[in-house]
Amino acid sequence: MVLYNILITKPMLTINNLPKLSVQNLSSVKDLTKADVMSIIEVANLFKKNNKEKNKNIPILNGRTIINLFFEPSTRTLISFEVAAKRLGADMINMNIEGSSLRKGETLIDTADTLNAMNPDLVIIRHGSSGSIKEISSRLKCPIISAGEGTEEHPTQALLDAYTIQDNQKKFEEITVSICGDIEHSRVARSNYHLLKKMGSKIRFVTPDYFKPKDLDSFDVEYFDNLELGIESADIVMMLRIQKERINDVNLPSIDEYFKHFGLTHKKLTNAKKDVLVMHPGPINRNIEIESSLADDLDKSVINEQVENGVAVRMACLAVMVK
Ligand code: ASP
Repeated sequence: MVLYNILITKPMLTINNLPKLSVQNLSSVKDLTKADVMSIIEVANLFKKNNKEKNKNIPILNGRTIINLFFEPSTRTLISFEVAAKRLGADMINMNIEGSSLRKGETLIDTADTLNAMNPDLVIIRHGSSGSIKEISSRLKCPIISAGEGTEEHPTQALLDAYTIQDNQKKFEEITVSICGDIEHSRVARSNYHLLKKMGSKIRFVTPDYFKPKDLDSFDVEYFDNLELGIESADIVMMLRIQKERINDVNLPSIDEYFKHFGLTHKKLTNAKKDVLVMHPGPINRNIEIESSLADDLDKSVINEQVENGVAVRMACLAVMVK
């Protein structure tokens, strides 16, 4: 509640009167405590209200330098971190990997040392292979936030999904979340599993056999290989894109065949709870994993809300992590 008073007197808000996380780096949701998650949600709530104002700036990170270091393509995550940093008044630099010395043979370590020498206050990193973010962050003196790592983690996606669930008046301990589609290759599925499990939700994995995670036994989930059954009475249906860029060991069926069995449609969704929320981290592939009209159906789909909330949640992460 203190935070709302702070919001009314905007200039009073400083990074010193915001809660701090129990971790220095946000590379895995596994490291966060429940209190950390609730702190991020509370601060994001404050920013979300302000993001609807004409003047969206709360320049508490004035003078700070934040670098976006993305080794994989991104639309939502990259832009929302940039918008978030700018609304907080930070100087945000997007490093262009293609035009960098990495293409001249410089190693990750030397690139990290170079960035470190410029004294950034926080670096946001997306990388396709597990371990690379740790390697880079080991050379940096500032905190880092993972913007997605291989098939392992996408912590800010899971945080914005948790925020969206709570913002829609769902209680974590009372809900069943069906995560559906290409789970084997999805970092969104893994981060959401770990975060929502921590918050007390029941999780189901719903995948065709060829996308069943090889380490299924390590997850405390109900497993279904049938979409209609897997979403029965679910409160949240989270659809995933087929991660074609990471697939080399699966013979995929035709698009029509996949959509017939694993595409979410209005018809199949009648199996879920009446007030079910349909979520998707984006980018969506219409009429492959989700019926186009369902993706646009604002009575069910919160896909655009997820994007809107992504800005507030990333503002919160930056605000509580920059020292
Ligand atoms: N945008 C999400 C990610 O980076 C999901 C996806 O690409 O399908 O993992």
